Amino acid sequence: MSLLDKLFSKEITRRTGAHAINIYIENEQKRKRSRARGKKAIDSTNIAKNNKTKTTVTTKKLQGSFLQRLDTRFPWLKLIAVCIIGFVAILDLCDLTISHIDDTNNHIKIAPMSKHVRVTERILKGKKLIAFTFDDGPSNITTPKLLDILRDKDVPATFFMLGNMARNNPEIVKRAKKEGHIIASHTMYHQNLIRISAGAVQEDINETNAVFQNLIGQVPNLTRPPYGNINDNVRKFTGTPLILWSVDTLDWKNRNVDSILTTTMSEIHDGAIILMHDIYSTSIDAVPVLIDTLRKNGYEFVTIPELAEIRGVNLTAGTIYYNFRP
Ligand code: ZN
Repeated sequence: MSLLDKLFSKEITRRTGAHAINIYIENEQKRKRSRARGKKAIDSTNIAKNNKTKTTVTTKKLQGSFLQRLDTRFPWLKLIAVCIIGFVAILDLCDLTISHIDDTNNHIKIAPMSKHVRVTERILKGKKLIAFTFDDGPSNITTPKLLDILRDKDVPATFFMLGNMARNNPEIVKRAKKEGHIIASHTMYHQNLIRISAGAVQEDINETNAVFQNLIGQVPNLTRPPYGNINDNVRKFTGTPLILWSVDTLDWKNRNVDSILTTTMSEIHDGAIILMHDIYSTSIDAVPVLIDTLRKNGYEFVTIPELAEIRGVNLTAGTIYYNFRP
């Protein structure tokens, strides 16, 4: 087989398996026989030419299918076919690679946020933008229910997860990530970071980072320190922007859907960061009601990085953000 034939057969094998290669080999043998006959035919043609007889004799002598004759007479057609198949294969490969990156998000630091923002910017034009944030989870009882609601309502959220909760519920963390939510840090054990030593803060952050690196292949790039308590140690050792809130639903305290709705609607504003906790069933029950009511009032939901990007805010480590008003 020529190099071209080998390439051709390799491509066929890749696409359709061993069956295809067997068919190809059979066809190749037929083509060889046909070529041999073709050569005889061409020889005859030359003789015929010499004898000034008509070249149609050659055509009559060419046996086999139309494709075989085509292959014999126009061998460059195969080259074109190989080029086309090669081109399609390269396109396929690119597509596979991109899907792979999207799925794992580990290998190459692409900018899914920017891409998403470009898409959402058109949809969100003129809308008031807000971000749901959920703290203290993930819980194996309530968080999956919340993820179902967010998926059904097509709402992205930012989860400030505790490292120890994440470690106990790895599949929920992975699911949240896969479904387009932002996985952010609420530290390892919900310690009050301003009451512990610098070394203890550093240790907590390192442990948290290790948990998320292990689970989703990256460390969180946003932090919400427990109780919103921040000092120089926290600023220095978290090494991420510090995200607080502007709308406190008090869901942890009131544990009542109506109360959560009333509190939220009285404080809501364009660019708000809404604080909730995904470990209480009443908070989860309030979410669809909040989504529907807020949407009716012209609000749309985005993640914290999206909100910052749309509002032109360049998030920086150690800086505290309460909201992203226009
Ligand atoms: Zn908390």
